[in-house]
Formats: sequence, C-alpha cells, structure tokens
Amino acid sequence: MAETSPVFVRSNPRVLGHDPGLGHPESAQRVQVILDVLEPGAAGRWTVDRQAAVPTDEDVLGVLKWIHDEDYIERVRAVSNEGHGWLDTHDCRVSPETFDSAVAAAGLAMNAALDLANRRLDRAFIVLRPPSHHAERDSARGYCFFNSVAVAAEVVVGSLGEPVVIVDFDAHHGNGTQKHFFDRGDVGYVSVHTYPGFPGTGTADEIGVGEGLGTTRNMPLVAGADDSIYCAAFEEALDEVASRLRPAAIIVSAGFDAHPSDPIGAMRVSEAGFRRLSAAVTATAHRWASGRVLSFLEGGFDRQALANCARIHVEELASGDAEKADA
Ligand SMILES: [Zn+2]
Repeated sequence: MAETSPVFVRSNPRVLGHDPGLGHPESAQRVQVILDVLEPGAAGRWTVDRQAAVPTDEDVLGVLKWIHDEDYIERVRAVSNEGHGWLDTHDCRVSPETFDSAVAAAGLAMNAALDLANRRLDRAFIVLRPPSHHAERDSARGYCFFNSVAVAAEVVVGSLGEPVVIVDFDAHHGNGTQKHFFDRGDVGYVSVHTYPGFPGTGTADEIGVGEGLGTTRNMPLVAGADDSIYCAAFEEALDEVASRLRPAAIIVSAGFDAHPSDPIGAMRVSEAGFRRLSAAVTATAHRWASGRVLSFLEGGFDRQALANCARIHVEELASGDAEKADA
C-alpha cells in the first residue's frame, strides 16, 4: 500500500461538443484548461489521455437506464436533435451535440468504474462535462443532464458487491446524486455546500431513509465559509460515513466552484483548501478503500482557478503516501 501508483487522467473529445452558448459559464474551455495544465505530467505520477475509450452508446444507455427514466433519456436526445434550446430549466441549454457529450461523459465514468473494479486502475480523475450531480431521474438541472457519478457508483457496487462512498465538495448540493442513493445502504453520500442557495436541498436532517438511513451526510454552510470551516466540515462528514460503510472505493464529485474567484460559487476556499479537501479524500481512501479513488469534474467556472485547483487535486490523488492515513 506504500507504493505510489499513477493517477489516470482521462477525457474524450466528445465531451467538448456540448455548447450551452456564448458566455455560458459551463464551457468546453473548462476541460481544455485542465488538460493543458496536467498534460506535461509529473515524473510518472499521472498520465493524461485526451482520447480515452468510451463504450458503445448502446452499452452506456443500458447503464444510464439504471439512473434515469427512459422517457427522459429520449427527451435529451430529441431536444438535442432539434438543435438549440433548453431542457427543463433555463440553465440547461442544449446544442445539437449535448446528447452525444452527455453519453460520452457517462461512458468515461462507466469505463473508469469497470477499470477500477477489474484492478486496472486504483485512482483516476475524469475530466468530463456536462457535469453530473444535479441531474435527477427525470430531469436536467444546474447544467447537468446525465448523472455520470451515479453511473460510476452503480458500476463499482454492481461489479464488486461492496459499498462505495460518494463525496461531493462542489459548492452546490448534489440533489440528483443524493436522491438516487437516498434509500441505499451500499452507497454513501457526503456533501459540503452552500445553504441556503441553489439547488435548495442538502439540509443536515436529510440523512437517508430505510436501508440508507445514516448513509447520507450533509454539511450545509452559509455563504462565505473559508478553508477552516469548509474543510473541517468535509473531513468530519467523510470520516463519519466512511467509517460506517467501510467502502471499497471513494467516488468524488470534484467541483471547484467554492474558490473565491468563482463567478457562481459563494464560498472562500483557497487553493490550499482544495489541497486539504483532496488530501482528506486520499487519506480516507488509504484507510478504508486500498487507496482507490474515482474522481469526476463537476463545477468550477473561473478557468484559472479551475486549472490550478484541478492540478492540486491530481497532485494529492497521486500522493501514494500511506502514512497520510494515520495523519
Ligand atoms: Zn457547483
């Protein structure tokens, strides 16, 4: 467990196609700046594959049906085919490429999960868009169309027959992810986020139901929280749920919009704060999950801050220092 294994950074040109329009914060350039800053690699600590394989659309849609209603999936396809418009909410603007990009994003998540389950990788950062965590079973929301993070969790749990914990440090609550796994005892969900604020969910008393009671842990924080508040809340919730579920892998909704420069987020988490959040993920993975982490891009809309924070995130994922587990 002390060895340093490389982080696989993956993307695919198909995720660049989705175009919500000029001036929209969720742009293809977000992926480009992250890949550009990571591309040089760092002495074998990570590798960047801009053309990572995705399964066939048929295979991806087969898994997406576990997460979304077929009617909804077909609605995303139909609105994309019509061209430019929007789906469900005005922040989910659609272009002719939206369906293809969203399927490719889910496909990247599916392949990463299969590779983790088959021990072909231990850690990966998947640079995908559209993002995931606001997408619900039957509706698009908050720039999200399909829930790729939920795809990854379902595939890992289904393949390994062991629990996973999804951790979400995006500045917004992952309403779609929480809802999908709310009654599940085998998938934990931990979120630190702004409250009150979009999407309006994620209060501390939302803790799961039935077999899922106690597997959801929300840390709602008022706007303006800094590193000390944001990171401490995240670490507390992560430790609580991970020690309860003893997951086989940690899955990350990695949003970087809690950065002070972000035009949408209202938090004050510095680059040092994102290093601390990422280090907590790695340490928890070493303690409970043999170091296994699958991380997926969510928000983050100031491109310079996004690039810096994504690099810091990957640096920490690449840290194979098992001693961190005892820190
Ligand atoms: Zn966000």
